[in-house]
Amino acid sequence: MNLRTIAEAIDAYKRGASQADAARLDFFEGLYKYQQARADELAVEMKTATLSADEAEEAYFGDEPMLVKAPADIKSEEFWETCAQIAQYFAKEAGLDDDMSAALEDFDWEAFVKKLDLEQAGTNPPQFVEDCFQNFDTLGVDSSLPSSIVMMVVTCALRAHIQSVAARLFGSVSKQALKGSRLKPVNCPVCGSPAALSHVAMATGIDGREREQYCNVCGTVWPFDRMRCGVCGVDNPARLHYFHVEGDESHRLQNCDECGRYQRVFFEESLEIPVSPEVEDVVMAKLDAIALDPRFRVE
Ligand SMILES: [Zn+2]
Ligand SMILES: [Zn+2]
Repeated sequence: MNLRTIAEAIDAYKRGASQADAARLDFFEGLYKYQQARADELAVEMKTATLSADEAEEAYFGDEPMLVKAPADIKSEEFWETCAQIAQYFAKEAGLDDDMSAALEDFDWEAFVKKLDLEQAGTNPPQFVEDCFQNFDTLGVDSSLPSSIVMMVVTCALRAHIQSVAARLFGSVSKQALKGSRLKPVNCPVCGSPAALSHVAMATGIDGREREQYCNVCGTVWPFDRMRCGVCGVDNPARLHYFHVEGDESHRLQNCDECGRYQRVFFEESLEIPVSPEVEDVVMAKLDAIALDPRFRVE
């Protein structure tokens, strides 16, 4: 994560924001700072298999995410410590009610993490998260703590443990592969998660506007085809529609007739707001509510 851009983008969004929105942005800025500091700490001793340029390119365009070939080594004692620290931060700063904050602070992360399949977490993060949700009842969590909160802590911790590995793996993909004319990966080429959002840059010279997808699970940002659905990958522009809230051309929803899903897309219309996918992820959470509005549906 680029903490400087994050701070600048948050400052820009806080101007004129409601108190609640400003508090939310501050909360995430603190969380990102912690995640980055922890990721740096863990990266010092990290040992990961790396991929050759050929292997990286094959994985990049293939069906298997790169972590399957070169997993992140997530150590139990380090992971529960990360979870415990993030939980403390949530308990203090997330604005949860007192009972939930107390339950989070007292939670035994060591015992909980020992029940998790960390090998799967380092190989296939989206499946790991899904399996945790599916099997949540078997993980011995008191009913005062909902799975959504516990798993939010776990996924935030996961990012700290995999983002350095992800950056290294992604860095082994050649420039030609990234910039070439082959259709780009729809889901995260490193961890396999669906993109959290897309970003369309300002037009530059003859290349026009470039688009990137962002994975909030491992932090990878990868180039994407401009006129495609970022969820299913269909590349028929007639099947895609953009919506935005009146007065805000930057934050749009791309709706796809093919898969019936929508994606949040940040259009960089000016340089007033520095581009930070992490901050856009927070800001555009509001669009999810709009997407659920029946008036948004196109028939
Ligand atoms: Zn990813
Ligand atoms: Zn689609």
